[in-house]
Order: sequence, then structure tokens, then C-alpha cells
Amino acid sequence: MRPLRAVFDWSALAANYALARRAARGARAFAVIKADAYGHGYLKAAQALRDADGFALLEIDRAVELRDRGFRQPILLLEGFFSLEELAMAEAFRLSVVVHSLEQLRMLAGTRRSHPLQVFLKLNTGMNRLGLQPGELAAAKELLKAARGVESVVLMTHFATADEPSEGVQAQLERFNAMTAGLGLPRSLANSAALLRYPQTHGDWVRPGIMLYGSSPFADQSAEALGLRPVMTLESRVIAVQSLQAGDRVGYGGTFTAPYPMRIGIVACGYADGYPRHAPTGTPVLVNGVRTRTVGRVSMDMLSVDLTPVPDAGLGAQVTLWGEGLSVDEVARAAGTLSYELLCRLTSRVPREDR
Ligand SMILES: *Cc1c(COP(=O)(O)O)cnc(C)c1O
Repeated sequence: MRPLRAVFDWSALAANYALARRAARGARAFAVIKADAYGHGYLKAAQALRDADGFALLEIDRAVELRDRGFRQPILLLEGFFSLEELAMAEAFRLSVVVHSLEQLRMLAGTRRSHPLQVFLKLNTGMNRLGLQPGELAAAKELLKAARGVESVVLMTHFATADEPSEGVQAQLERFNAMTAGLGLPRSLANSAALLRYPQTHGDWVRPGIMLYGSSPFADQSAEALGLRPVMTLESRVIAVQSLQAGDRVGYGGTFTAPYPMRIGIVACGYADGYPRHAPTGTPVLVNGVRTRTVGRVSMDMLSVDLTPVPDAGLGAQVTLWGEGLSVDEVARAAGTLSYELLCRLTSRVPREDR
């Protein structure tokens, strides 16, 4: 059997959630499990976080699945409902909904609730993706008043630059405060970055995502320094060894040329598994726990690693692509992307195991 597998440490997920909750002080914390819990598997993730204050995701069928499995805490649909049928289903299963547009408010105002509904009213404070504009607020209030059976409203926004040291959250926070002044309603603003860096954004509900999976939202602070533990470890083995002469080239395109005689290991992991094809020569990787680098192009099923720093490593040597001992953040940075993308893009052919 091909030696590649993704191994999940669910106790790390629980520990990271506990850390998020401590950092949030008194606020309650939705565990964001969208995108199949950032590629980790939403059911396993929810089970590991059984006592979380709440869960947030996009797909209504997955939210209903959680209810069917006995999860009783608030479950927030981050994009709300897309039709009257979905609205009715959200009510029936006591799902909380983001309402980000006047269209959704009209659906609310035009129908009766079968059960009381909790609404997270999303305001556009500068991200310009979802949310009501300041000029739509008056109409939104009227529609909400007309909507019977809305039992509570939480005011919500999402930050575009909470992870960027020069920008932060200040401008959006000021706009949010101006839009919500005098309403006296609970608030939800913070993603992982805002939760960790800007306590003034905590409000009543925080919404940590990436930090739960053991990745740092910041370029200038490692997950380890934040006390976060990796949940997913992508492991494989060396399945062939090549001894190169100086001048020999490696892989498709021959983009790497051995500058001196060296040994390279061929590892069972490629872009069809979700390893980034654009990871250049020099992307960090562990072989038998020793840090080395990839060489040449990543191909569909394999990649090559420099065995120079690990002279005792041969056929069958243990390889960590990311996870324990090598943060996914470092691999993402080398490949010009984010941990978010690498974690979500693990493909279904990779076997999964619990640690
Ligand atoms: C994805 C998402 C989050 C979580 O963001 P992280 O950066 O992963 O912590 C929070 N809120 C909303 C609305 C989101 O879409």
C-alpha cells in the first residue's frame, strides 16, 4: 500500500479550541468548521469539540446532520439561507442564520416562523463581500420589525485585514461601532486573528477558524509561539533513492541540477494528493525527523527530497510533509499560499487515520 496518509490529533483540536476560548475571555466561541473543518472532516472535528459553545459552517445539510447526531448548541449558517425552503429548514432544526442582504430580510418578513429564529445580521464595514451597507440599515430595521418570530439578533461583521500588522481592525471597527451605535444588541466580529490580537473586537461571540487547526493567522508569529498544536500531519515515506552525479537533473522539466554528488529520496506524495504543485526547490520537509528540502518539480504522485542532511535515510525513511514538527504555515509560505488552502485541498485519495 502507498505509504502516504493524513494523521489527525483530535486532542490538539480540543486544546486549540480551549486556547481560543481562554483568549476570548468571557465571549462565547463558535468553532468554525466550514470547508469540511478546513479539510479535517467536519464530523470528526465536531465530535472532538462536542462541548463547544457553537459551530459555524455554510452547508445546511451538514448543520442538519449535526442536529441529527445530537449536537444541541447553536449552529450558525455563515451565508444564511438561499431560499424559503432553506429558511424553513433552518427554523425547524433551530439553526442560527447570518442575514447579509435585504433579499434575505424580505424572505424573513414575508413568511411566518415555525420556530423562533436567531439572526446574525451581517454588516459590511469594508470587506465588501457580504453585509448590509450603512444606507440599507433603516430598511433592514423595518424588515426585521415586520419579521415575526425572530427571537434574537446579533450584530456581526468580518475583518479583511485583522492578520496584517500595518492595517489591523481599527477602520472597520469604527465603522461597525458607528453603524450599531445605540442598538444595544450582542455582537460578533472576531476571526482567529482579531480574537488573538484585538480584545476590543471580542464582543459576545468570537468565530475562530484557522487557529483551531493549529495554524497561525499571522505571518510574524508562529503557531508554536501562540501555543497552537497541529491537528493534521501529512506523512509518507521514501519509496526510491537516487544517487546523482554533479550535473544530473531531477524530475519534469529538469528544473533542479545536482551541484555535487548527492542522494535524493522519492516520496509518495504529489499534487494529486493536495501537495502544492508550485512548491519550489527548497520547500521544507522532514525526513526521519530531520529538516531538509524538496528538489525539482512536484509531480502528480511523487516529489523529491534532498537526503544530504540525512545520510542514514534510505528506502522507507519517514517523511513529514507538514504537521507535527513542521508547521503547515512554513510549507504554505514557501509555496506562495496559505495554510487554509493546503489544509482544505487534501484530496480524498489520501487515507486518514486518527492519532
Ligand atoms: C471563515 C470565517 C471565519 C474564521 O476565520 P479564520 O481566519 O479561519 O479564523 C470567521 N468568520 C467568518 C464569517 C468566516 O467566513
